[in-house]
Amino acid sequence: MTKFHELLRAEQRFLLTGHENPDGDCLGAQTALFHLLVALGKQPLILNPDPLGKAHDFLARHTPFQNFRGEALPPFDVAVLLDCSQMSRVGVLGQRIKETGRPVAVIDHHIGSENGDGSVCFVDPTAAATGVLVRRLWREFGVPLSRPAAEGVFLSIVADTGWFRYSNADAEVFAMASELVAAGVDSSRIYDDLFRRNHPDCAALLAEALQRNRLRCGGRLAMATLDKPLMERAARADFDTDAVLDPLRSLEGVEVVALLKERFDGAIKVSLRARRDVDVQAICAQFGGGGHKKAAGATLRTTLEQAEAAVEAAVQRALADARVGAP
Ligand code: 5GP
Ligand code: MN
Repeated sequence: MTKFHELLRAEQRFLLTGHENPDGDCLGAQTALFHLLVALGKQPLILNPDPLGKAHDFLARHTPFQNFRGEALPPFDVAVLLDCSQMSRVGVLGQRIKETGRPVAVIDHHIGSENGDGSVCFVDPTAAATGVLVRRLWREFGVPLSRPAAEGVFLSIVADTGWFRYSNADAEVFAMASELVAAGVDSSRIYDDLFRRNHPDCAALLAEALQRNRLRCGGRLAMATLDKPLMERAARADFDTDAVLDPLRSLEGVEVVALLKERFDGAIKVSLRARRDVDVQAICAQFGGGGHKKAAGATLRTTLEQAEAAVEAAVQRALADARVGAP
């Protein structure tokens, strides 16, 4: 038994949390871990820095999600950080958790997550999603998977593999998906819940966001920049800006897609996606961010124009190093 399993066995009150703007993997993994802990007779509580977005509100039918609004933290024995490894990614809530001095456990699949804030870690960067790791935990504890947990794991997988399209969709993912569907997961209902309840303005927003694309680095970098007015409109319609990433990655010759978003506090959130050999995790690490080789992010405290120039220069260097698509 690993230190991580011992911790789950020994402690009673678990505070589960994750990164700001939690995505499907983070929320799905929290769902699956919540129900495992309940099955083990523990007292888990999910407390996130941000609320569930509309696309994920169906999770709340079977799982209680709370979001931090500055109140005093409930008592807990150990905090579990899912789908990231640094409390700095959990915003003010992360700071408050740190101040309690309670132990932090990390379950994550990002590169370098052993070196984050966790004193006990369950990290495997080869896993397609954090939810895959939680599914392994269920198996190791010998507990039959419950329906809500199965839905959580399925959501994690489809979120991080782009519905089985990306190169991280490995044999484990397909085997797990088969088992989850056999356990009662309704995949087409989840697809509808996630992607087919969009606000009417989302079609125009997608068109507008795609029009912001500019090809740079001789057509090998596609960069779309969403300024504050567009981001405000996107927020009003609950528009998932990730929708622009794949159409841009589909363009012939494009090796890297960069999405730059001006946040309400003025910081610039950068998302990078690679098509083949460029390591975007290494690029984002230069800006204090991280992630995976083919999907990574960072936050820059500069103007949009400065961020565009910095990202273009970094991608240009990476393209030269990787020698991809060079004439
Ligand atoms: P996204 O571009 O969708 O925000 O993130 C892509 C991947 O990179 C995700 O796995 C996400 O967790 C990771 N990521 C995004 N932003 C950051 C960041 O600021 N720091 C680190 N370490 N990882 C990030
Ligand atoms: Mn993930």
